[in-house]
Amino acid sequence: MTDATVLIVDDETGFVETMAKRLEKRNMTVLKAFDGEAAMRVLADNPGVQVVILDMKMPGKDGLVVLQEIKEAHPLVEVIMLTGHATVPSAVEGMQFGAFDYLMKPCGFDELNQKILEAVELKEQHEGEALEARLGNIAQRMI
Ligand SMILES: [Mg+2]
Repeated sequence: MTDATVLIVDDETGFVETMAKRLEKRNMTVLKAFDGEAAMRVLADNPGVQVVILDMKMPGKDGLVVLQEIKEAHPLVEVIMLTGHATVPSAVEGMQFGAFDYLMKPCGFDELNQKILEAVELKEQHEGEALEARLGNIAQRMI
């Protein structure tokens, strides 16, 4: 339904593969990473990524650390965090670092799909506002 480009970051490879297949069926372009380091490389190589699905608990870099790196290097990318009970406090903290929202694991496909669509919509709205502001500035200078 949408041509969104998303990156799924989770150390549970089965979860990543299943969700990726299902999102691709909805016409999304899905990139995958199984840890934070790989996620940052994929983002650097693919400026078209709009939304990142980010697991909180992964070996190596913690999800909360990866979230901060993403928001610093790619502030316009929306991040949806995936959290278990143990990492809910991290996910709540993540909202303060600019995450779009978080989903409790195990999360269903429909829930994830819906949340991605909301994130894409917000991102497009932000980009529209930024463009309007730029056009407004240009118009001001021309008067
Ligand atoms: Mg995990």
